[in-house]
Amino acid sequence: METLCPLCNGEGTKIHHSRNRDYYSCTNCTGVFVGPTAFLHPTEEKKRYDSHSDDITQQGYQNFVSPCVLAVKNSFTEKHKGLDFGCGRSEIVAKLLQQKNYNSVGYDPYYKNNPAVFTQQYDYITSCEVIEHFNNPAKEFERLKSLLLPNAKLILQTNILQATIDFGTWWYKNDPTHVFFYTPECFQFIQKHFDFSKLEIDKNLIILSV
Ligand SMILES: [Zn+2]
Repeated sequence: METLCPLCNGEGTKIHHSRNRDYYSCTNCTGVFVGPTAFLHPTEEKKRYDSHSDDITQQGYQNFVSPCVLAVKNSFTEKHKGLDFGCGRSEIVAKLLQQKNYNSVGYDPYYKNNPAVFTQQYDYITSCEVIEHFNNPAKEFERLKSLLLPNAKLILQTNILQATIDFGTWWYKNDPTHVFFYTPECFQFIQKHFDFSKLEIDKNLIILSV
């Protein structure tokens, strides 16, 4: 059975089944996605997120998000305006930046649902370990792009599905809130489709420039 890709509407081919979830590989953008029938109910999804750490003083947690934070510091100053999209309960990325006097605000559909953030545009948007949770990546990337100012950067962190990874044994796919997995080629598709001038990938960090 074929299912359409929620990023590019291409045809998905079933490549794997485990833990009651079907996984499809898109023949167009090469992203891998979970069939929509396996999406968690929002209440269940929030319960999973509630169990995540919210202690931003933990060094391990700070290290985990540091690629995103450093990427902001490398390209932007206190004068620039930033948004952390999907900031979670802890708002760790926005808070670590605020501690250095950076102007970053958090948004999260579950924990900081302040739609006023969508009435402005930003010099940078961070989204750290968020895009793998997108049920509708086409809609979310469209929105993110629309929120960026000229010369802005979209700074993403996710575990990239590299060609060397054996999908069947890949731990990252097993989190029931992870529903879309990006290959490097998939980010090239995103760059072209959403009209970004530049794409940089370094390990789990992806930077798309307007
Ligand atoms: Zn696709």
